Amino acid sequence: MGGTGEGRQLAEILAADPAYAPLLSFAGRTASLQAPRAPYRVGGFGGVAGLAEFLRAERPAALIDATHPFAAQMSSHAVLAAQLTATPLLRVECPAWRAASGDRWTNVADMPAAAAALGERPRRVFLSVGRLEIDAFRAAPQHDYLVRAVDEFAPGLPRARVLAARGPFAVAAERELLERERIEVVVSKNAGTPATYAKIVAARALGLPVILVARPLLPPAETVDSFAPALAWLAALARRTGAEDGGAPRASDHPAREPRGV
Ligand code: NAP
Repeated sequence: MGGTGEGRQLAEILAADPAYAPLLSFAGRTASLQAPRAPYRVGGFGGVAGLAEFLRAERPAALIDATHPFAAQMSSHAVLAAQLTATPLLRVECPAWRAASGDRWTNVADMPAAAAALGERPRRVFLSVGRLEIDAFRAAPQHDYLVRAVDEFAPGLPRARVLAARGPFAVAAERELLERERIEVVVSKNAGTPATYAKIVAARALGLPVILVARPLLPPAETVDSFAPALAWLAALARRTGAEDGGAPRASDHPAREPRGV
């Protein structure tokens, strides 16, 4: 389950390895999906029951949750559906960003708190929280928003412009953007992803305050912080499965030869 750079990277590495047959799943939120170099599917599963049914039908050797840390519903569904179907589950989630020297962060619990933290005085705001989170900022229409999102959309805020762009972003370009737009405050999710960290570094360099929205709580699951340990986890799983079968990994652990996926 993807929707992140880590998920794409992992699926592409697995697709290049004949021992695996990955299937990368996208929710289908963006209008302009960049096709990965790996087999993929698009669209929701239909809740926990739908995902469990999918797992029973496809019988993957493992389910990898490489969704964004804020995709809390999908991650919760993954835990429940994996339990229901006894599918080994691994979550790939990079650690939250931690404030470094020079950072001027205000940590808030959610989007309404971020909107409130902007204050009464109109400010020039770089809003980098995703299209689906804009509604909360209707409570603070006095600010000038530069909203960055993957696709162009109508933000429905009186003083907002949309900048359609897809990461990863470089520090120099982010700094130039913040300066050119005379941004006074940055609002971001604490995504933890390297691909979107540049705006945090740029804000630090310019001495700008950042309002950082904390991650939602997720149900516990075995977790690694990047694709590399996920590969090691999969290899260990394949070895265990092979050992339980009394020898080398089965053909069914080489799903390229059988209709099993990871
Ligand atoms: P969400 O609230 O956790 O999930 C809502 C529903 O979308 C899920 O119940 C599921 O529908 C479907 N869904 C989510 N991820 C899916 C996936 N990888 N494959 C198939 N169906 C999926 O998720 P979200 O926050 O809307 O995020 C949607 C996608 O965008 C995720 O893949 C996530 O990795 C990516 N993304 C999210 C953010 C963010 O800030 N939230 C940022 C960057 C990328 P059903 O119940 O019908 O199965």
